[in-house]
Amino acid sequence: GATIGILGGGQLGRMLSVAAARLGFSTHIYEPGAEPPAGQVAHRVTTAPYDDEKALTAFAHSVDVITYEFENIPTAALDLLEAHRPIRPGRRALAVSQDRLHEKTFLAELGLQTAPFAGVDTAADLSAALAEIGTPSILKTRRFGYDGKGQARLGTPDEADRALADMAGAPAILEGFVDFSAEISVIATRGLTGEVAAFDPGENMHDSGILHTTTIPARLSTAQRTDAILLAGRILNALDYVGTLGVELFVTPEGLLVNEIAPRVHNSGHWTQNGCTICQFEQHIRAIAGWPLGDGSRHSDIQMENLIGDDILRVPDLAKDPAIAIHLYGKAEARPGRKMGHINRRLGPKS
Ligand code: ATP
Ligand code: MG
Ligand code: MG
Repeated sequence: GATIGILGGGQLGRMLSVAAARLGFSTHIYEPGAEPPAGQVAHRVTTAPYDDEKALTAFAHSVDVITYEFENIPTAALDLLEAHRPIRPGRRALAVSQDRLHEKTFLAELGLQTAPFAGVDTAADLSAALAEIGTPSILKTRRFGYDGKGQARLGTPDEADRALADMAGAPAILEGFVDFSAEISVIATRGLTGEVAAFDPGENMHDSGILHTTTIPARLSTAQRTDAILLAGRILNALDYVGTLGVELFVTPEGLLVNEIAPRVHNSGHWTQNGCTICQFEQHIRAIAGWPLGDGSRHSDIQMENLIGDDILRVPDLAKDPAIAIHLYGKAEARPGRKMGHINRRLGPKS
């Protein structure tokens, strides 16, 4: 059978491996860190850094197609891998989503709404950006941010020096603060021949910058739900995308604004494992393997809740509730802020 190479051995790589195995594929994980969560369920693991050309070449030769569970893979590693095997989703999606300034520029050029934004490298850039965008606003590092890390909020312009210091010299982007009524996300998949399947939008609640719950259905009008799905389709088509994508959106009276996109399966799509016949992980594997996509419609109302750090201690109690599906990542150490697993609670049949 065919082998799928996955860059990154975290929980997303783990759940991709499980989905791949169900479809009869083998998986080979490439991960610099020791004892990756995906390694427990994958067929093969290479533990090596992203600048190890020998290991990268051997990995590429051992697989039929390469995918990834995170967007910050070094460009040189991608160049080397791509010389041997296809990388899906493709390089354009990675280039756009690795850098918040490129991402927002791409979205704006597509005609989609975002928060007002400006690139910030220096104190002079920041005061120019503040003159244009004003406060409240958020300064974010352009690269490598996740779970709200690398962000500084500005309530007033005199917080500029402190916010810039928080960036520690990294290139940044200033975004106007969006007064949203809700945060939602659309998880959608595009196949090798261009067909698109989208899951119902979910409503996201965060706690300390980390996703806490995703609830389906989101509280949206039919028009908003349609807008959200069509907008995700436009992004997929513009990127000639193959695989599953996550689009985070702000709901405002002026319409939907795109916060960010993730060129991979997404935490806010974990509910699909128990709310749909075909989940986001299986859709992704189908897409990158050139299979037809499955039916992404849902059969249940669901709430996904992340188990962060010591939340893992609740598992024995959670297991007593027959409406809860438990998904654990096999991580030994429950550090604060660390995603240890998630639960999908069935709220009832599709409403
Ligand atoms: P993730 O873990 O989703 O990748 P991240 O670190 O990339 O998160 P963002 O999604 O950009 O960060 O921001 C985290 C959260 O901060 C958002 O979900 C939202 O609640 C809030 N936020 C970010 N940007 C804005 C904005 N321009 N206006 C209002 N709130 C914002
Ligand atoms: Mg992000
Ligand atoms: Mg986000």
